[in-house]
Amino acid sequence: MQLSAEHLSLRYNGEDIVHDISLDLEGGELVAIVGPNGSGKTTLLRGLARLLKPTGGYVLLDGKEIRSISSRGVARNLAVLPQEHPEEVDITVSELVWRGRAPHQGVFQRATSADHEAVVWALEAADVRYLASRSLGSLSGGERQRAWIALALAQQPRVLLLDEPTSFLDVQHQVEVMALLSRLNTEGMTIIAVLHDLSLAGRFMRRVIGMSDGRVAFDGIPREVLRPEALQAVFRVPMVILEDPETGLPVPLPRDPGAMLKD
Ligand code: ADP
Repeated sequence: MQLSAEHLSLRYNGEDIVHDISLDLEGGELVAIVGPNGSGKTTLLRGLARLLKPTGGYVLLDGKEIRSISSRGVARNLAVLPQEHPEEVDITVSELVWRGRAPHQGVFQRATSADHEAVVWALEAADVRYLASRSLGSLSGGERQRAWIALALAQQPRVLLLDEPTSFLDVQHQVEVMALLSRLNTEGMTIIAVLHDLSLAGRFMRRVIGMSDGRVAFDGIPREVLRPEALQAVFRVPMVILEDPETGLPVPLPRDPGAMLKD
């Protein structure tokens, strides 16, 4: 399933935040969006997900203008994991994840075996089945994040957009979430994730889009775009790129200002 932006501009309070972005995200891609705070990553993600009305251009989902598709129709194909979640403390993980089935259910229709299977699959994939009867309020930040991931997965989307899915997670769960995204991608799901951690982007993603001031500053495979000059221009700090000795993949790091003084 293809998701495209054509000359997309998005605005808050009369101020353009995303400027004239054109992007093609093909079915089966595994894409990271990186960039400093305030560069428009979340705004772009919201525009791509039909949550924000463009002030210019448009978004196409499989060639169809996304605003001409109902929100239910979009939700059957595309799920979004936002950065912040509503304060839900009393519902259980299972109740939360069942909500992901709403776009697939008719009004007053009883749950089908397909719904049950999707919920169990989502709980297992996000490693929260053992927490199914716990209330959200009783979970740690990482457990709660995985419960929200399970909600998005229960939609069984063909395109999954995630806004900083690894924040709040410890290293083990960061790697687990990234491995889960890789696995879902090999099973055919298109994955687009805003990531803060450049080493996770370099290691796990196949395409990295760098944003700066609401525009695309670079776009390509990690080995080609995660370079000191490109990252420096976007993040405005000197960077050094190490090579992972096991995989040869780029591991970007900010340079040590003390070491630079000796240059
Ligand atoms: P990023 O995800 O790269 O940190 P955002 O897309 O969240 O960037 O924000 C880009 C700019 O848009 C920021 O200057 C931010 O203050 C502004 N912005 C984001 N959300 C809103 C909003 N709901 N109302 C007004 N301005 C917003």
